[in-house]
Amino acid sequence: MKYPATRLRRLRRTPALRRLFRETRLAPEMLVQPLFVKEGLDRPVEIASMPGQRQHSLRSVVEAAAKAREAGVGGAILFGVPARKDPRGDGAADPAGVVPAALRALKAAVPDLVLIADVCLCEYTTHGHCGIVVGEGPHAEIANDETLPQLARAAVAYAEAGADLVAPSDMMDGRVGAIRAALDAAGRKETPILSYAAKYASAFYGPFRDAAESPPSFGDRKSHQMDPANADEALREVAQDLEEGADAVMVKPAGPNLDVIRRVKDRFQVPVAAYQVSGEYAAVKAAAARGWLDERTAALELLTAIARAGADVVLTYWATEAAGWL
Ligand SMILES: [Zn+2]
Repeated sequence: MKYPATRLRRLRRTPALRRLFRETRLAPEMLVQPLFVKEGLDRPVEIASMPGQRQHSLRSVVEAAAKAREAGVGGAILFGVPARKDPRGDGAADPAGVVPAALRALKAAVPDLVLIADVCLCEYTTHGHCGIVVGEGPHAEIANDETLPQLARAAVAYAEAGADLVAPSDMMDGRVGAIRAALDAAGRKETPILSYAAKYASAFYGPFRDAAESPPSFGDRKSHQMDPANADEALREVAQDLEEGADAVMVKPAGPNLDVIRRVKDRFQVPVAAYQVSGEYAAVKAAAARGWLDERTAALELLTAIARAGADVVLTYWATEAAGWL
C-alpha cells in the first residue's frame, strides 16, 4: 500500500473512471422539496430571503409538487401559513385548515409523491412559539405536557387529509409517543412518524421564519431546541424518539451537524433524514448572486456531503432543481 506501487491518482484520471468509482451517489428520489402554502393567496408570492422559493396558493402548490415529481424528487414536506392565529395554535389541528386542504389537493393530483406534513404550532400561535405558553412576562414558559395533545390532534388531522408521514418539529419531550398513540386510536396505525429528533437552535433558520411567518414574538427557542455544542445529547434524543415509535429520525440543520448525522447512522442503523435549512440555501444563493460561488457545483457538493455523512433522505430547497441537475 505504498508509493510507487500505490498511486491513488490512477482512479481519478478520467471523468469515466471517477464516475465509476464514486462512493456517494445522490439520487433525485432521496430528495424532499419543502413547500409553503398560505391560506387565502390567489397567486404565489416570492420569498425575498430565499430566492427561487415561494409562498404558494392552493393551486400553485399543486403545480410545484407536480414539477418536483416530474423531476424525480421523492417527496415534499408541507408547511402551512394560516390566515388567523390564536394563543393555543388551535388552527394547526383544523381539518379545514390550509395544510389539510393542500394535502387533499396534492394527494389527488400527485399521488406518487410522498407527502410529509410538518407538525408544529409555531405557524399557528399568535406568539410564534412551538408550544402552548403559560405564565406571563419573565415567567412565560412553553408548557411541554399541555402542548402534546395539541400536536397529536394536528398529526391526526394531517394523516386523515392524506399525509403519508407526519413530522413533528416542535422538540417537546414525549411528543412522538403522544402522536403515535393518537394516530393508532384514530385508526391510522400505518401512518409513519418522521421525528425531528435532533433539532438544534440554529442561526440558519432565519429565512424560514419569513417564509412560514413564524418568528417568536418574545424570547427564543433555546428552551426546547438543542444547543449546537451538544452531540451526545442528540443521540439521547434519537434513542428516546425511537423508543416512542419514530419510524425515521431527522437531524436539522444538516450542514453544521454532519458529525451528528454520522453518529446517529452508525449507532442506530435506522432511516436518517437531514434538513438542509433555509440559511444554508440562502447563503449560497447570496454568494452566487455576487459571482463568488458557482451555485450548482456548491449545492451539489453540500448535498453530497450530507449523503456521505449518512443521510438516506435529504430535505432541501434545491430538491427540484438538483433533481434536474442529476
Ligand atoms: Zn415550531
